[in-house]
Amino acid sequence: QKFSSVGLIVGVTGIVGNSLAEILPLHDTPGGPWKVYGVARRPRPTWSADHPIEYIQCDVGDAGDAQAKLSPLTDVTHVFYVSWTSRATAEEDCEANGRMLRNVLQTLVPNCPNLRHICLQTGWKHYLGPHQLFGDFQPHEPPFHEDLPRLPVPNFYHDMEDILFEEAQKKEDLSWSIHRPATIFGFSPYSLMNVVGSLAVYAAICKHLGRPLKFPGNRNSWEGYAAASDADLIAEHHIWASVDPYARNEAFNCSNGDVFKWKHLWRVLADQFGVEFEEFDGKGFSVAEELKDKGAVWEEMVRENGLTETRLEEVGNWWFMDGILNLNDSYLDSMNKSKEHGFLGFRNTEKSLISWIDKMRAYKIVP
Ligand code: NAD
Repeated sequence: QKFSSVGLIVGVTGIVGNSLAEILPLHDTPGGPWKVYGVARRPRPTWSADHPIEYIQCDVGDAGDAQAKLSPLTDVTHVFYVSWTSRATAEEDCEANGRMLRNVLQTLVPNCPNLRHICLQTGWKHYLGPHQLFGDFQPHEPPFHEDLPRLPVPNFYHDMEDILFEEAQKKEDLSWSIHRPATIFGFSPYSLMNVVGSLAVYAAICKHLGRPLKFPGNRNSWEGYAAASDADLIAEHHIWASVDPYARNEAFNCSNGDVFKWKHLWRVLADQFGVEFEEFDGKGFSVAEELKDKGAVWEEMVRENGLTETRLEEVGNWWFMDGILNLNDSYLDSMNKSKEHGFLGFRNTEKSLISWIDKMRAYKIVP
């Protein structure tokens, strides 16, 4: 087959990587037909086996491994960088994530004569700062827009942007785009931050134990407005930016375009799992603390329901769920810039939540 574009997804088993691996190879995807390579650190999981992509197991944090596995891919035209790694401090995050992106770009830029565009995914931490330093400085005031200046704190997004700018200018006609989603609703049992996965596993455990669905957050998150970003919508946003000349060399927010309240989604979640809905009683608790000794319960649920083998700490990102449900403001962004540049995509967040729970069921991640 003759391909018009060749995409390399870095982080293909992640929450947006998985959507890109599904959407890029479709026959009607803009810029196509696409040949697709997908890179991730671990062996290919069963739930990604059906995507028509070439899977490459590679630790991009290791310069030698990146060079060995990525330098033969000389036909790449587009890079979709949807990966990150987490360290204890904000400074360590800068070093580790900067190194990963640098290893990828320093291998691909000189080796791929037809490389045209690099999409880099960052996110709202651009406006909120690194999670390790929350509370130590003043974040930007919402609604967030792309022209806000960088916050004066160490942030791996700044390091990655600077590496992107530096590497992209080494090749003529090589463009870039930066994508800043809100909390992502998507599918990946390997993601470090999967809020729908965590909520679904939490609800399934409540059902299994015969308990009502208690809200573990604070009053502000229960009552306040929030926004999310559907992983398929983000994939469409990446693909739009990689083929539309009007989106070249710009940073864009990428959220669903509606707002929601957790107290409304909480009822939807309870319905989906047939578990008793409970109004917030003003007493928050840490879900990480609550579920820290439930590994054996999850093993039993996996066995009893014939689910795909997963470990509780893999499918439940409790620190992240605790963070998302304990915000002290209503964080929202503006999609004006994307719309002004021609991206009119949107998602209904409630339908998005239900669709990702359905997908988790179809892949036997939750009962
Ligand atoms: P993820 O955690 O879902 O997936 C990360 C992917 O990168 C996985 O495929 C993993 O295998 C791969 N990976 C990690 N280390 C690797 C290495 N050394 N070598 C090769 N592959 C490696 O990722 P994500 O949540 O999509 O995060 C991407 C960006 O999006 C990050 O900057 C993150 O902060 C941002 N973001 C995420 C969310 C969210 O809700 N998940 C929200 C807003 C912004």
